[in-house]
Amino acid sequence: MTLQCTRLAPSPTGALHLGNARTFLVNWLLARRLGWHILLRIEDLDGPRIKPHAAEQAMEDLRWLGLDWDQGPIMQSVRQARYDQAINQLIAKGNAYPCTCSRSEIELAASAPHAEDGAAIYPGTCRGRFATVEDATHQSGRRPAIRFAVPNQIMLIHDQLIGDIQFNPVRQLGDFVIAKNDGTAAYQLAVVVDDADSKVTQVVRGDDLLDSTPRQMLLYQALGLSARIPTYTHLPLVIGPDGRRLAKRHGDTRLATYRQRGVPATRVLQLLAGWCGIQSDPTLSHPADCIDRFSLSSLPRHPIVYDPVHDPLLKD
Ligand code: GLU
Repeated sequence: MTLQCTRLAPSPTGALHLGNARTFLVNWLLARRLGWHILLRIEDLDGPRIKPHAAEQAMEDLRWLGLDWDQGPIMQSVRQARYDQAINQLIAKGNAYPCTCSRSEIELAASAPHAEDGAAIYPGTCRGRFATVEDATHQSGRRPAIRFAVPNQIMLIHDQLIGDIQFNPVRQLGDFVIAKNDGTAAYQLAVVVDDADSKVTQVVRGDDLLDSTPRQMLLYQALGLSARIPTYTHLPLVIGPDGRRLAKRHGDTRLATYRQRGVPATRVLQLLAGWCGIQSDPTLSHPADCIDRFSLSSLPRHPIVYDPVHDPLLKD
């Protein structure tokens, strides 16, 4: 039997809040219950959005809550050479091409349809336009981004929680960016290369990333790594009373803030455990106490609504 491996993959673009923490807790509980190896990966590629010390803070927050890992941290920012190799492989095979369009040009393209999340679907303007990356730079005077050319095929995704979902990559996703115009790998590419290199077999994450899954599966296929495609579990998110994903605008639910205000980790854990479908129990004091009481089948199938304005964690 192959060793099962998962990863906790915080992005150090901000501190961990209750929403992220709950996703990490579910991932950790599944891993510890089912004997998966846990890797910690810091997704620190998003240049200007990365906050100094946020990576250390994320690890401190995870530890404060009682979550641990078996390997890592692996930092994405030191792996650019490996990503370049994969990007060049995709260009050489004709699966990816340089694109010199700016965001506003894409938005303005009269024909640009929009995905469900409102983002413009790239209309393919630069597909087949330049012979090489150098050509694109030379002709446009800009450094190009690199896009993956999505094939015209219907894809079937199996999710452990949601079941089977069909995607039409051309209509729903469009050609997506795998390298930004400053040369750094984009999220989709980096995740696939890292998960494949680390032999990750289980991806557990928020369902806001569900439409990344067909993109990532296409990358596995194009890189000749189909056998490494992991099993996916997408979790319903924690949302604010307005129905949007829990974020700063709803109030401050950062773990570090609760810690500073003297809220014990066990109270945060008990709240999160309830959101994982575990019966409320004031004796729960460590995530390990939750392992035997947790199962995917009792995980709520709907988003958890939380209103930080009436935050019970801050009431004495
Ligand atoms: N770094 C991403 C996040 O914090 C997770 C990416 C993934 O799980 O694929 O939302």
